Amino acid sequence: MKREESISQLKNSKEKWDFIVIGGGATGLGIAVDAASRGYKTVLLEQVDFTKATSSRSTKLVHGGVRYLQKGDVKLVREALRERGYLRRNAPHLVKNQRFIIGNYQWWEKPFYTIGLTVYDLLAGRMSLSRSLPLSKKSVVKYIPQIEQKNLRGGVSYQDGQFDDSRLAINMAQTAVEHGATVVNHAKVTQLLKNNEGKITGVVVEDTLDGGSFNLEGKCTINATGIFVDEIIKMDTPDVHPLVRPSQGVHLVVDKSFLGGDDAIMVPKTSDGRVMFGVPWHNRVILGTTDTPVKEFVLEPLPLEEEVDFILETAGRFLVKKPQRKDVLSVFAGLRPLAAPRKESDEMKTKEISRSHKLLAADSGLITITGGKWTTYRIMAEETIDLGIKTNNLPFKPCKTRTLKIHGYMENPDMDNHLYVYGSDQDKILKLQKENPEYAEKLNGKLDFTVAEVVWAVREEMARTIDDVLARRVRALYMDARASIEMAPKVAGILAKELGKEKAWEDEQVREYTEIAKGYFLS
Ligand SMILES: Cc1cc2nc3c(=O)[nH]c(=O)nc-3n(C[C@H](O)[C@H](O)[C@H](O)COP(=O)(O)OP(=O)(O)OC[C@H]3O[C@@H](n4cnc5c(N)ncnc54)[C@H](O)[C@@H]3O)c2cc1C
Repeated sequence: MKREESISQLKNSKEKWDFIVIGGGATGLGIAVDAASRGYKTVLLEQVDFTKATSSRSTKLVHGGVRYLQKGDVKLVREALRERGYLRRNAPHLVKNQRFIIGNYQWWEKPFYTIGLTVYDLLAGRMSLSRSLPLSKKSVVKYIPQIEQKNLRGGVSYQDGQFDDSRLAINMAQTAVEHGATVVNHAKVTQLLKNNEGKITGVVVEDTLDGGSFNLEGKCTINATGIFVDEIIKMDTPDVHPLVRPSQGVHLVVDKSFLGGDDAIMVPKTSDGRVMFGVPWHNRVILGTTDTPVKEFVLEPLPLEEEVDFILETAGRFLVKKPQRKDVLSVFAGLRPLAAPRKESDEMKTKEISRSHKLLAADSGLITITGGKWTTYRIMAEETIDLGIKTNNLPFKPCKTRTLKIHGYMENPDMDNHLYVYGSDQDKILKLQKENPEYAEKLNGKLDFTVAEVVWAVREEMARTIDDVLARRVRALYMDARASIEMAPKVAGILAKELGKEKAWEDEQVREYTEIAKGYFLS
């Protein structure tokens, strides 16, 4: 994970890669881990930073998807539950069991959800995390002290997985590198290179930090760019019908006291037929999400007022302490790549469109993969590499990721210590603090993050901007957007020292970061 070394090697190398992966979200990183661990020469290029787009903005669940079961999509649920089990096993430092409570307000809800969630457990087979159970009203209140008790009859509990999305992504990048891959951020693919037969032979890459561009040659190029897949497809075939269109999902982050305990709440049917979660996460609660068709493919999507109102209103109906706008510590929006309707008359409500992934091979050899879930990235990667091998006549090597431990692997981490997300790297951060006592200083009184974590992020995790650090290496932006702005000058100073930058660069970084972070709080 040394960016400057990797970039300079890429700029000067004449090597031919087996796989060139475009996109450093969950899907692309999963593909890089898969290909590299099979022994293929693999390079991954991310235009901004790992998980800059959708993959840092999830609900942070490793789940089969109870709502897909409601829709009868048994195959999708079974696959995701199996993958949930693998991920829990391979990254136990980041994926934990989370109890979810459904409060029941109608007589039929308890038997209905108990049966439904028992099916959910059965579909997980031996990967089941625990049995779903019907609960008395007293137990529901014990688990969710702040649940609305008026007309509450009881409830049902079930287990799913919960994680930190961008931290897992960084560990996946490290895993890929440990298996021989070259992985770089701030490197945008701007063009596909083709031979006389129209087959893709490589890509043109722009170094978006230090400038300049260079060519890479490869046997198989994979487009794993999420909502941006059509941009790459158009580089291959300019007049093709769009494959995806975005649907926005918004989350609000509020203090943990709004649930009052360590358990999550699930509202199986909101006023407009969606599912809503309230999930404890890093001493906060994430409330969401929405599903709003939008037209723009952007890196920093903004929440709509009606989405914010909808979440506050729904949460307020199920919680005693009704969250208000002033209680929102952070608000973030993510874009799902859903299948684009073939024509306007095919327009459907986005929540009705299947969430399973799409995997396509073009005549040029370009492989495109999009959709799916964070939870299913591993199986998506396995299928993608299998297809890439087949369509590009590469020698077959078997997939190893079912049992491959993710970097940082550590069983039973102490989750009360905020450094638990680093897993086995935690000791190295503590060592940094011991050797340099000033590194133990907090970035800000409101959050636990220390100077050492910023230094670590720059030296070991390829963070190069304040946004890389505060949004995706430590999750300050998502936990308290205003506090993160207060931290920005200090982080800029550390970055400048580590990277040898001038004061003007620091000032520009703070300005840019403040602009981004303003989109994460409500005025
Ligand atoms: C609101 C919301 C909640 C969700 N919650 C969950 C959940 O709780 N659990 C779950 O399992 N799933 C969840 N998902 C789904 C999950 O987040 C996505 O399936 C997953 O993150 C998609 O990853 P991706 O890598 O395909 O796309 P992205 O994360 O968008 O990654 C694509 C990357 O490609 C890069 N890129 C684009 N163009 C170029 C280029 N030219 N050159 C180089 N790089 C480029 C982008 O910068 C981006 O980083 C949720 C999705 C949303 C929207």
